[in-house]
Amino acid sequence: MLASDPARYRLTEAEVKSVPLSIAAYLIVHPQGVLLWDAGAISDEERTSRASGSELRVRRADGQERVVTLGPPLEEQLRAIGYSRSDVTHLALSHYHWDHTANANAFAHATWLVRQVERDAMFATEARGASRPATYSALQKSRPVIITAEEHDVFGDGTVIIKHAPGHSEGHQVLYLKLAHTGGVVLSGDLYHYPEERALGRLPTFEVSEEQTASARRELDAFLTRTAAQLWIQHDLVGHRALRKAPEYYD
Ligand SMILES: [Zn+2]
Repeated sequence: MLASDPARYRLTEAEVKSVPLSIAAYLIVHPQGVLLWDAGAISDEERTSRASGSELRVRRADGQERVVTLGPPLEEQLRAIGYSRSDVTHLALSHYHWDHTANANAFAHATWLVRQVERDAMFATEARGASRPATYSALQKSRPVIITAEEHDVFGDGTVIIKHAPGHSEGHQVLYLKLAHTGGVVLSGDLYHYPEERALGRLPTFEVSEEQTASARRELDAFLTRTAAQLWIQHDLVGHRALRKAPEYYD
């Protein structure tokens, strides 16, 4: 869970149901491989022996600080469902901001699915303000698949598709899943943070391109209508609390 300020999203505290935001990572298990989507805000290594529920202060590349309330370590959550870090064959980050990359270095062995513009921004000489480059530095040597198409079908059968949705970062992306029983689900990345951004038509104040974000939102709306997929806003704490968490799952 992440302490937040709705003003950064052009919202007031009165307009949002919950001021704090959720932080989530998702494990997608497919017969052809195992994909980790996003890598959390605090790495298992840096939390040392801190218990779930305790708070940790994080400093971003631009010096701004954020406060995170810890959940269980990622590795412990993986172990509880019978997986280890080495079982993860594919890594995709919605984008490079610090609250999505914390454990990325632990998955440098996996195939990394990324756009060139995003990779270039991540390893630029001057770090992007909202990033923590040390959390993903090992990816510089990992084996990337550079995505060029608007949609990238990860396992080739139409069930796991990374969709281009730039604007929040240079190569921001969202993930479409076609689940046998649950149906279509889109994991939002940070295309939205609060559901009220969607309801009230507000944009964050710190986009790389507000125009691109607005356009990506319009395109995703059309996609959601066409496919009848659900949208899971990753940072929406109210929505997140209603979802099943590991060791439970959706299929
Ligand atoms: Zn975020």
